[in-house]
Amino acid sequence: MNVPFVDLKTQYLALKPEIDPAIQSVLDETAFIGGKHVEGFEKAYAEKYGVKHCISCANGTDAIYISLKALGIGPGDEVITAANSFIATSEAISQTGARPVFVDIDGFFHIDPAKIEAKITPKTKAVIPVHLFGQPADIPAVRAICEKHHLHLVEDCAQSHFATFQGRRTGTFGIAGTFSFYPGKNLGAYGDGGAIVTDDDAFARQARLFACHGSLQKYVHEIEGINSRLDGIQAVVLRAKLGHIEDWNKARNAHALRYSELLAGVDQVRCPKLRPGTFHIFHLYVIRAERRDDLAAFLKTRGVATGIHYPTALPLLPAYRHLRLAASDFPVAAECQGQILSLPMYPELADEQIAYVAAGIREFYQGQGRS
Ligand SMILES: *Cc1c(COP(=O)(O)O)cnc(C)c1O
Repeated sequence: MNVPFVDLKTQYLALKPEIDPAIQSVLDETAFIGGKHVEGFEKAYAEKYGVKHCISCANGTDAIYISLKALGIGPGDEVITAANSFIATSEAISQTGARPVFVDIDGFFHIDPAKIEAKITPKTKAVIPVHLFGQPADIPAVRAICEKHHLHLVEDCAQSHFATFQGRRTGTFGIAGTFSFYPGKNLGAYGDGGAIVTDDDAFARQARLFACHGSLQKYVHEIEGINSRLDGIQAVVLRAKLGHIEDWNKARNAHALRYSELLAGVDQVRCPKLRPGTFHIFHLYVIRAERRDDLAAFLKTRGVATGIHYPTALPLLPAYRHLRLAASDFPVAAECQGQILSLPMYPELADEQIAYVAAGIREFYQGQGRS
């Protein structure tokens, strides 16, 4: 049996009757940039997400960058984020001229609130928790710290569209939530795309201004900005998919519970821990496994694709060598990077495929005892 890591084709074929005519209408209208389709998606996303504003942009990295710029963050400032994320999070901080300050992760792969305050200095301006793998970080705790120290809270929701903490959606706890619509994300376009959500009118205006060459009115440039926009084709694809996202999230969540059931009792594997009170949308199903690389290689021979998210914790990447950070300051992230393994996960994953993957893992460890 073949179990791909993700399968975008099956979903496209199911949506083809909805998506093809929508794309055709963009072509017929030559509504390539801006216009009613982009505005329509922004409005629909804001409404469905339960927020006042949605500002679309070119990708999820820009969504973070634009948010930080709209908050006036720049050279001389520090922004705190998690030690385990995709580099986009910290890259966007550096792009503003500010310095990323990394905090170790907790047992759920998220920024550890207990370790944040030690990293706050007079230069700290904001904290960016990442709701990694689709599970909300301990956002009430992070928010309380931000409030106490008067720091901006920007949530990186690139992997957590519609995930909730005590019924409240990720991205609505601070000044802004940033989203990626990269094709492989839970809500994915057919190209690049991103968005920022906020309830703050002044912030929304500033973000929109910066994303659009510093102008809200053609050729009236209040400031210098950048060019970061969602295009019409991505907008109609996303609009069509928006009607399905919550069902897809539920399907992923059910698949994850099935994996965990089938892997229970395999001593060498730690299944993802569920944070109480949250709805985890399982962008990724990440286990911690003994002899991880051998397991991945074994699964590959069985036709099962896996991934590692991420092989090196951010502070330990060559890109941050200049910050002279030590693994000992990030013990949990440093330990996880050699153990984490992402199993196939997408809404259309079949029960037999999940069973096959789990059986492969059991077989690998069978008779090998504990290492
Ligand atoms: C995907 C991702 C981003 C960046 O999104 P792009 O659309 O690829 O720019 C940022 N943060 C996290 C956690 C991501 O997974």
